[in-house]
Parts: sequence; C-alpha cells; structure tokens
Amino acid sequence: MAHDFTITFRGVRGSMPVPGPSTLKIGGNSSCVQVNVLDHTVFLDAGTGIVAGGQQMVRNFFANRDKVKRLKTTILISHTHHDHIMGLPFFPPLYIGDSSLFIYGPSIYGPVASPTDLNYVLEMLMDQMFFPIDLKETSSIKTVGTLKPFDQILLAEGSDPERVNIQTHVPTTFKDKVIVSQYRAYNHPKNGTLIYKLQYAGKSVVYATDIEGYVEGDRRLIQFAKGADVLIHDAQYTTDQYTGPMATQGFGHSTPEMACQVAKEAGVKQLVLYHHDPNHDDAAVAKKEEAAKKLFPNTLCAYEGLAIPV
Ligand SMILES: [Zn+2]
Ligand SMILES: [Zn+2]
Repeated sequence: MAHDFTITFRGVRGSMPVPGPSTLKIGGNSSCVQVNVLDHTVFLDAGTGIVAGGQQMVRNFFANRDKVKRLKTTILISHTHHDHIMGLPFFPPLYIGDSSLFIYGPSIYGPVASPTDLNYVLEMLMDQMFFPIDLKETSSIKTVGTLKPFDQILLAEGSDPERVNIQTHVPTTFKDKVIVSQYRAYNHPKNGTLIYKLQYAGKSVVYATDIEGYVEGDRRLIQFAKGADVLIHDAQYTTDQYTGPMATQGFGHSTPEMACQVAKEAGVKQLVLYHHDPNHDDAAVAKKEEAAKKLFPNTLCAYEGLAIPV
C-alpha cells in the first residue's frame, strides 16, 4: 500500500541557492519541503526547491488528465525572506488554468503605511520591477491567506483546504482530516517566522526553520513539538561560526546542538537538520551530521530528494 503521509525535501539551503560540484550530494536549492497527504500536495516554503516539485506535479497531471480535473496545491510560507519565496514565480502550477493554489503565511510589518497582508508581499515579489508577469496575470486560481494567531488549516480528502480559528470556532470533527497548526516565533530578525505542525492519523511533522535557539532550549517549541514523529529544525551554523571571530549569534539561526536539545526534550522520533549554510559543502554537512548523531542518535541532515514516510 502506498504510504499516505510522506515528506520529500526539495530544497535544503538557507540564505541562497548554491549549485556546483561541492554541493552535489546535499543539493543547492533553497528551502522547500513537499508533503503528500491524502489527495493534497503541501509545500512548506517556496524556495527554489519548489520548482522541481511543481514540474513533477504538472507532468503527473497531464499524464492523468482523464482522471484528475484540477491540480490542487497548498503552500505554507514560514516568512517572506527571499530564500523562502524565490521559487514561487517559477512554480509551473501557477500558470495553469485548471490549478488551484492556496497560499498561507504570516502578516508582515513593512515600511510604515504599507499593507501587512501576505498577498501584498507576493504581489511585490512579481511586480514589474522584479518579474515580467504579475501574480494577478497568472492563470491559476489563487487564495492567499494571512494567518492570525490560533488559525488552523484543515485538509480533507476531495476538498479544498479549510481555514478555521480555534479561538472562535471549534470544528465539529477532525476525524480523517489533516490539521495544520502554527504559531509565530520571534527569534528571527526582524518579523519572526511561523512554525508549522501537520498532524494526521496520529502522526505529526513539525517544521521549525529560521529560528535561533535559547539557553536551556526553546521551551515553546519543545512543547509544540512534543512527541512529534519528525522534527525539521534549523541548523545553519556550527558552534564555531556561532561564537567565533565572525560570530553569527543573533542572526536568527540555530546550531545542531540547539536542534538536538529541542529534539531530545520534546522526545521526537526523528530529527532532520535543515537550512544548511550556503558555505557548507557536502563534507561540512556530513561532519555536522556525524557530530549531531552523538547528541541525538536519530538525526539526519536534510538533502535534496530525501523522502520520509511519516
Ligand atoms: Zn531562510
Ligand atoms: Zn529568514
């Protein structure tokens, strides 16, 4: 039986894409994790890794045109730094008429008097100053939602994503649905980032990128990730980089040690180190993994193509 809850890493880099011979094993695309669950395709972030995911969706769609009427994609944006949205203008399902995109992400605190909703930022991303085609001109049907505290997204077989606010509305049943919950973490300059959790059939995946650890561990994240099957955690810097002469402390990213501490205290089953520094070649990432395994044995460094059945 095909597994009905699988995650696939499409882009594992932070900051910027780094193609070339020294990153062939780990991959050079920026942040994106694909989640396949029920009949939904969900992308966590839309870095350049999303492009290959979209190409595959479109190929499958045209190969099964008689059975599948519409393409359906949900994109969950952690925050709108370049490395997390730069793939969106090149995402093939954006340009197909029979394609529905549901894009959710945080509100933005930009220049004074600028709108704070996510739609504004995505329209800016494809403004004529930066890109030849406006977001509005693309053929797909788009729903863009700015997430508020206590917003959840429910995914059910055969339907579009449903957004609910659990403070004001408690859905009658979560049965057979994927529950996506989120909260805003503020340990990433300057607007923080959304941490996501996807739960389905008693399993859960937590996506915690672009966050910097705290002394004695990030208590809120430890609580949020309690017992998760997979924790995807930022581990951009080595401790030497974090504290060395060019210290990256305060840049809003973690070390593998910080990620391992959260994984241990939350009692997760699998830790995946993510958002690798663009300066880390394949050998450096392998070294990072080896050191982390000593602190938390079930640790893997994310690489492009890594697929985990949850
Ligand atoms: Zn990033
Ligand atoms: Zn960032």
